[in-house]
Amino acid sequence: MGKKLFTVSYDDGTEQDRRIISLMEQYGIKGTFNLSSGLFGKKSYIRLIDGRGRSAAEKDEAHPGQYVDHFILSKEEALRTYSHPNVEVASHGTHHLVQNGLSREEAREEIARDVEALSGLFGYPIVGHAFPKDSYNENVLDALRDSGVRYARRACHLQKPRDFFFDKNAFLIMPTCSQLDPFAEELLREFIAAPACKEDMVFFLWGHGYELDYGTELGSFAHLEKLFQMVSAAKDVCCVTNRELFDTENCGIKQK
Ligand SMILES: [Zn+2]
Repeated sequence: MGKKLFTVSYDDGTEQDRRIISLMEQYGIKGTFNLSSGLFGKKSYIRLIDGRGRSAAEKDEAHPGQYVDHFILSKEEALRTYSHPNVEVASHGTHHLVQNGLSREEAREEIARDVEALSGLFGYPIVGHAFPKDSYNENVLDALRDSGVRYARRACHLQKPRDFFFDKNAFLIMPTCSQLDPFAEELLREFIAAPACKEDMVFFLWGHGYELDYGTELGSFAHLEKLFQMVSAAKDVCCVTNRELFDTENCGIKQK
């Protein structure tokens, strides 16, 4: 019989990840954090416009109250924060470049250096990647495979999936939904209620830590905690990191 697997994936390595990991620990959730090794310690902001976030290097004093912090953890803080049994670290490109226009050399620099730096820092092979702004090309895919990366995560928003099936042989993986999708809770309820079947079923939630500071119903730690509580209470759902989606032999028992 197939398993029902739940995983989360968070991008950018910002300070809010600490609070996410403490919720993961509380509810037995496992997941993957995608980091850019060239940006440790960088501070910028996200400006909220009509509920959507845009990067901003500085706060514009003319629009107070519309910004949330995008403060990336320092290298030392990252090592402390993500060295946790519930957490896998994956790459997000050395400098978080948009990746669909990169040459072979640029792709190598952006991918291989990041994988090498993160593997060195955390002491295990980095096998996952998430594309900044869901952008990539053939050069990037080649660089990922040459660096030993096993899977690369794309991004989705407001696209409700048809089912919860997951192709273990795929290199490009699409999450089930974003934590900001208005249907996330209803979809999770459907997943939890669904009987297990022959193939594994996966609910893959993705987002950014800073989105939980938006102060909206969906963009809040309270909303994420509600989703985690639902998973934690479901007896037949097994929590895994993104990497463990591909190797589920040992995940029969929920990690608490
Ligand atoms: Zn990003």
